[in-house]
Amino acid sequence: MPVLNGNNSNNQLTPWHSYDVEALRSELQVGIDGLTAEDAKARLGTCGPNEIPKGRKTTVWELIWGQINNPLVWVLIGAGLVAMAADPVGGLKNGLVIFGVVVLNTVIGTLQEGKARKAIEALDQMVPDRAIVIREGQNLDVDAREVVPGDRIQLASGDRVPADARLIAIKGLMVEEASLTGESVPIEKSLTVLEAKTDLGDQLNMVFAGTMVVAGTGHAIVTSTGAQTQLGLISSMLRNADHLDTPLTKAMAKLGKTVSLGIIVLAIAMLVVGVWRTMASTGVPFTKAFQETVLFAISLAVGAIPEGLPALITIALAIGVQRMAKRRAIVRKLPAIETLGSTTVICTDKTGTLTQNKMTVETHWLPSPDRAVEELILASALCNDASPTSEGAVGDPTEVALADWAEKSGGNVGFVRDKHTRIDAIPFESERQYMATLHKGGTAYKKGAPEVVLSRCSGVDAATALDRVHAMADDGLRVLALAKKEGLSALNHEDPGDGWTFLGLVGMIDPPRPEAIEAIGRCQRAGISVKMITGDHRATASAIAKELGIKQDRPALTGHELSDMDDEAFAQAAARTSVFARVAPEHKLRLVKTLQKQGNVVAMTGDGVNDAPALKQADIGVAMGITGTAVSKDASDVVLTDDNFATIAAAVEEGRRVYDNLIKSLAFILPTNLSLAITFGIALVFFPFDAVTRELLLPMAPMQLLWINMVASVALGVPLAFEAMERGIMDRGPRAPGTPILAKNLVVRTAVVAVLMAAAACMVFMWEYRTILANGLPDELARREAQTLAVNTLTFFQIFYLLMCRTLQGPIKSIGWFSNKAIYAGIGALLLLQAAFVYVPSMNVLFETAPIDLRSWLIAGLCGLTVVPVIYAIRKIEERAQRNEAH
Ligand code: ATP
Repeated sequence: MPVLNGNNSNNQLTPWHSYDVEALRSELQVGIDGLTAEDAKARLGTCGPNEIPKGRKTTVWELIWGQINNPLVWVLIGAGLVAMAADPVGGLKNGLVIFGVVVLNTVIGTLQEGKARKAIEALDQMVPDRAIVIREGQNLDVDAREVVPGDRIQLASGDRVPADARLIAIKGLMVEEASLTGESVPIEKSLTVLEAKTDLGDQLNMVFAGTMVVAGTGHAIVTSTGAQTQLGLISSMLRNADHLDTPLTKAMAKLGKTVSLGIIVLAIAMLVVGVWRTMASTGVPFTKAFQETVLFAISLAVGAIPEGLPALITIALAIGVQRMAKRRAIVRKLPAIETLGSTTVICTDKTGTLTQNKMTVETHWLPSPDRAVEELILASALCNDASPTSEGAVGDPTEVALADWAEKSGGNVGFVRDKHTRIDAIPFESERQYMATLHKGGTAYKKGAPEVVLSRCSGVDAATALDRVHAMADDGLRVLALAKKEGLSALNHEDPGDGWTFLGLVGMIDPPRPEAIEAIGRCQRAGISVKMITGDHRATASAIAKELGIKQDRPALTGHELSDMDDEAFAQAAARTSVFARVAPEHKLRLVKTLQKQGNVVAMTGDGVNDAPALKQADIGVAMGITGTAVSKDASDVVLTDDNFATIAAAVEEGRRVYDNLIKSLAFILPTNLSLAITFGIALVFFPFDAVTRELLLPMAPMQLLWINMVASVALGVPLAFEAMERGIMDRGPRAPGTPILAKNLVVRTAVVAVLMAAAACMVFMWEYRTILANGLPDELARREAQTLAVNTLTFFQIFYLLMCRTLQGPIKSIGWFSNKAIYAGIGALLLLQAAFVYVPSMNVLFETAPIDLRSWLIAGLCGLTVVPVIYAIRKIEERAQRNEAH
């Protein structure tokens, strides 16, 4: 038996589609009731878990190449080559150092990105696939990884097929096999036994792992699992691991390109000026002057490139993903993190997301005195898929409410179901808005939305009944109508026919989630409009919306009304109306598109198969982790593990925080690089030549520049990713699409701080250099000490400026001095590193530093501190300008 002895490698070659059901059963050794528990366990042991490889993993080489293939890195490598070529002896060390940095940068970047990818891959597993298997005659809801060959599985619309399987019973089963064949038109399945050599795409009696059931139901026997499935065999076609790109990182990459170009131009300009100045003032020949100046130009390039930035961005995004997961929002596509922050409209389901989905029947109504309540109870018990248990029924909440009510009202659900065996059923589907069952003896029952059910009933005063429906719905009750019909032999799935007898109405409550009320308030204060989209009755929807505090400028609209609207009227409705009732999935799609055309960033929730197009179209598709179908999860950007609206609001809040923190990292890091460029510009034009060597004086050695860029900037920048939320983060409006990354005021701030840093670095350098020379100490020591002091000065600037960057809005106390302890850990770590940089002998050799005294530390600290009053002054000026603008 090839399947069961653990070697199911050639199992996939077996033409299962050519077997009839009997042969299939005997080959796979499975009885009518499915496998036994022990058998399933044994097979899991031999065949292994049903894990379908989740796409080709990015290789380490690709990760590494991703780090190197960056214009900033190319500039660095170019600088290293030029250094070595220009001066084979002296340049060698600098060239090697630069390559060392490229390597270090690549290693750090690769590790960071690898970690981020792992975190994202792990998220995928937090939303496990489920499968319904039938073992020993019982329906079991199991983890899809536990499915084994021979298992009998049950499929319903919205499911992802868990393994390759041969169909044995179907009802209107349609499967979308795009993941396998690329064909996105759903295929209607059949049970006909096929020839052995039938192509995969034509094997209509088979279903394949990873494909999606989009309509109907079916039963099938699993033929192969895991890597042995067709999907497992063609792993090259699988969806690749998600890219780590987001709109912001793309914009930053573009910025990086522009910056690199600027740096190259600047470096060449410096080279020209430097050569000219050296030749003019020292009289050395061109080649000598060129060799000396090249080091200058390279230092400029190394200093001006923000080497630490890519690492900071990746860390901020990865932290964002993890924090959202903690708040029960699983981000499936990374760009969603940022997009969430700019959301302007959230379109949300009602049942379960805004309400608790715990329904209880509150009231019922009978159309006339000659209709008995017993019949209503019987219909509620029979036309119902919820299974009664000793602790109440389980299943769809609407049906649970009805089953519990029937039980409480004296009907024994289990008993009546045994007595009236069900012989056919039309399952509930949102589009149809009803469910029907047929029982032995020819009686059919039907329950569903009152308008739909009543339209098929005869001999009923529909107007009175609908008045009753309205009255109940106005109280926020969900109303269902029940009906019956005698003498049927089968249910017509296309058209259940007229002539039904109306049995009565049932009204149930589904209380709002208290946390949803709070979250809606928060969203609306944050300038995000909340629209409720529901399949429920208009009056019920309006009443619940009112309870939830959704702003309703206009009365609710129904799906029918939307269908009748031309584009202009629809656009008006989309913009102004906030409650949509009796809505079908196609309305959702039109709504998303219209809102987007109006410039909105739209988040849309969905759970059904037919919600997939709207979820894909939305800027943020939000799927439900508990009640959502596999199809909807697949189409979404974010999955809520608790199905709760409050989680969307939390994710929006996190999204805004991540974006803020990315901007803060950028705002923090850029002045340092700009200041280094300015420092070298000043040095080139104004610094004297070295007293002894008669070469241009470097205010900082290339290695020291790398220290600032790779060690100081990163140690201080990383903690910014943990920065707490800005106060009132949800009281400001959403970021307008297309806003530049750096606002005008940040550009001004960056320039001012950079000039300040450069001026301070140049001054302390010259002052220290001159003082030491004046004391008669050697020139080499003077240079080293002066450079060390210049680096320390910049580091203190960074430390104090970091505190200023913790919030982009106002004083630090607005977010709390100690709300982010990581900042102080980063500062502490950097001070220790800095001490090592200055005092540890091996570091002195590597970085060409020299120990400095306490006085020098004080000078560096005081210089750095000047950034604080400067930022306060800038802020004051900004505030005044804002006030003037407001007037
Ligand atoms: P939302 O779209 O916010 O989740 P909903 O749950 O009311 O709202 P649907 O599930 O599409 O939306 O239900 C639409 C209507 O169909 C309900 O108002 C109800 O009248 C009817 N209905 C819901 N569940 C069932 C069911 N299990 N059997 C029969 N009819 C149902």
